[in-house]
Amino acid sequence: MTPIELPLFVFEQMADQARAIAPVEACGILAGVDRRVTRLYEMTNVDNSSDHFMMNPAEQFSVIKLIRAAGLKMIAVYHSHPATPARPSEEDIRLALQPDVAWVILSLERPDEPYARAFSIDGDGVAEIPLTIVKG
Ligand SMILES: [Zn+2]
Repeated sequence: MTPIELPLFVFEQMADQARAIAPVEACGILAGVDRRVTRLYEMTNVDNSSDHFMMNPAEQFSVIKLIRAAGLKMIAVYHSHPATPARPSEEDIRLALQPDVAWVILSLERPDEPYARAFSIDGDGVAEIPLTIVKG
């Protein structure tokens, strides 16, 4: 599977957002060109929950319009796991309705060492996508 390239500054934005709203799960959208992420769009977790998330549909709609207007593509939906490993939960698997959009999960299990993993979720099948953090 083609790796997803995630610039370090985007990873850090994601980690800062996740830390700022922990223990609630953070969520958002990663956009870019091909499999190279160039920017992140923070979204509101309308469930305000520590073990699942739901994006605000109106906010999601306007972000998708912004991504298109910028000539970018939606590469992944990301969310944080404030206290558990970066593995899709059963609910994540159930909610993943777009197999062409990757799932990136950022774990704050070890608060000083946040890490992220990417997955392709299709029905009941979960496959890890290599995620490369690049400088810049
Ligand atoms: Zn999750």
